[in-house]
Amino acid sequence: MNGHNRVWIFDTTLRDGEQSPGCSMTVPEKLKMAAKLVDLGVDILEAGFPIASQGDFEAVQAISAEYPWAQVAALARCTSKDVERAAEALKPARRPRIHTFLATSDIHLKYKLKKSRQQVLDDACAAVRLARTFVDDVEFSAEDGARTDPDYLEQVARAVVAEGARVVNIPDTVGYSTPAEYAAIIGRVVKALGDTAIVSVHCHDDLGLAVANSLAAIEAGARQVECTINGIGERAGNCSLEEIVMILKTRSDRFPYTTGIHAEHLYAASQMLSSIITFGPQPNKAIVGRNAFAHEAGIHQDGYLKERTTYEIIDPKSVGVPEGKLVLGKHSGRHALKNRLEDLGFSLSKDELDFVYTEITTLADNKKGLMDEEIADLARKSQQVPA
Ligand code: MN
Repeated sequence: MNGHNRVWIFDTTLRDGEQSPGCSMTVPEKLKMAAKLVDLGVDILEAGFPIASQGDFEAVQAISAEYPWAQVAALARCTSKDVERAAEALKPARRPRIHTFLATSDIHLKYKLKKSRQQVLDDACAAVRLARTFVDDVEFSAEDGARTDPDYLEQVARAVVAEGARVVNIPDTVGYSTPAEYAAIIGRVVKALGDTAIVSVHCHDDLGLAVANSLAAIEAGARQVECTINGIGERAGNCSLEEIVMILKTRSDRFPYTTGIHAEHLYAASQMLSSIITFGPQPNKAIVGRNAFAHEAGIHQDGYLKERTTYEIIDPKSVGVPEGKLVLGKHSGRHALKNRLEDLGFSLSKDELDFVYTEITTLADNKKGLMDEEIADLARKSQQVPA
């Protein structure tokens, strides 16, 4: 399975992404975000960690019920209680995946788990075996895989596949690896598993290498990338979905791989996430940041106006960034406002739209135009006003 060129996008915005300060989401918020992820065409949608909380359990259940055709994943440690809870939450899903994980590095075995390599191997196999009694699609993650002894990692990977795991994920849990090093680790597991399973990667950005490491892993044969919108996630975050997808699209000359992502929904998904959690991407964030397509220097503007591709490698429209995105002023009509709000990920009722329109015409009297963030703030405010 690792020879083909289709890369599966496993979105973990609602699980790893949520597991970071300022990012926790309620069940209705996760449902709203899931709608955008479905529009975007993610292959697997990790909706939560059901044993962790009642809210996570309900979110997995609700998303499975709302999008029965989506491939929904639920996280579980390698214990019977965790696996059973994940299976229970996934009951409404038609394409459920249980994603079970256990640390395999010596440092985690010694200090965190206080278990031997043999015990960890046995627990991993038992969890995969149990998960397979509930669902066909089981993923095993070797937590801290990038810092695991490669011989042992290969042994664990072969063993869980023999128990029925279809996907083996080798995370760089602490964001420590570098592209060539990580590619070597992944390449070895890919070679060991051959056609028996898909090798997956899950990279953290502690050294700013999450996307580069994921890309190196794809070249080494990985065919699933775990990532999040706006790169949110534990600590410095995860591999950014919009970046890895747009690298493959923009540089298909060097990277002949495809994904199922509808890139024109990237900006709306990013904006929707920003409206739900407590922060948005930094202004200079690639693809979805406020300045990602802004041209300030005179020489750049001059070149850009003569021929867009002199200074722009991606057409903003292709990722759903609205054109003329900064100026929406008092002369703009309701229609333009409605379109802009949709671009920003909002669909407002007539009353809510009226509220935003009135506020904007008042504000715009004193300004040269409103920034997208200000418009988004007003849209959020409108949704808090009782109807
Ligand atoms: Mn993680």
